[in-house]
Amino acid sequence: MTTTLGTASAGPGEIDTGRLEVGETRDGSPIGLPVAVINGAQSGKTLYMQAVSDGDELNGVGVVQRVVPRLDPAEISGTILIVGIVNYHAFQVAEHRNPIDDTKMNRAYPGNGNGTSSERIAATTFEAASRADLVLDLHQGSTSRMLNEVRVRCGKRHRLHQDCLELAKAFGCGYVLDQKGPDGQLARAAPDEGIPTIDPELGGCVGWDETSIRKGVEGVFNVLTHYDFLEGTVELERQTRANGFDQYGSPNGGLVSFAKDLGDRVVRGDTLFEVTTPFGETKATVTADNEGILWRTRRLPQVATGEYVCSVGTDIDSY
Ligand SMILES: [Zn+2]
Repeated sequence: MTTTLGTASAGPGEIDTGRLEVGETRDGSPIGLPVAVINGAQSGKTLYMQAVSDGDELNGVGVVQRVVPRLDPAEISGTILIVGIVNYHAFQVAEHRNPIDDTKMNRAYPGNGNGTSSERIAATTFEAASRADLVLDLHQGSTSRMLNEVRVRCGKRHRLHQDCLELAKAFGCGYVLDQKGPDGQLARAAPDEGIPTIDPELGGCVGWDETSIRKGVEGVFNVLTHYDFLEGTVELERQTRANGFDQYGSPNGGLVSFAKDLGDRVVRGDTLFEVTTPFGETKATVTADNEGILWRTRRLPQVATGEYVCSVGTDIDSY
């Protein structure tokens, strides 16, 4: 049976790329998101994968462009639907949010076909995601520095919680943040439709980060193998899980220097960072409120009072 996504159309054993129309630009040109359909020669599940939901998060499209050439439809059981770049307008200007409506795409799901620019793009991509049995929404910690991790956003009381955890374990970044996300995330809206969904956060960088992209490629192939799109088995590895997330801002203005590296364990009272003057005098020392793992840090050293500095994953266990 032929599978279609936008203008991409592939029969069994075929792959095709095309465009998924989501409206027009300000000059009236049609906007088509780049899409790919991989229709396996054998039947099986459907995986939906998307990247660049946030316009400055490019590692996901780095993963997509390495995964797709390695997929041989003759060897695949099932179907893979891919939107390579979701946030068209933000991507064009290399910004996080869609500049047309100043909205974060991952707060707009499941979207609205008659709504704002972001809501319409969310609705169109959500329709594609809704055709799948599994969803991967490839993100990263924007331009901050962050661990490679996978987020389970449905919340612990959701009926699909275990399925989402399994998908996160199969992806296998090593770290999982298991915390209910804000409204409007694809990783919350799709589980409500009965589709296990994860939000792999592939590090954080300006542009592309080779290590995180490789981790993402590996994760996608792990998922394809674990869920029988590809032959073989994956050895599921124990994941370090954070069940909470503390964010730290700066108590005053100055230059931040970190006392810990990403991935370091911290205990309550450990110094996380100091804020210093341009002449090296310490203005403030900020310590951890709870034990956990240093998960994410700002990239630039300069901060104003109250500005975001870092996050610690807390309530750590493993599964
Ligand atoms: Zn994101």
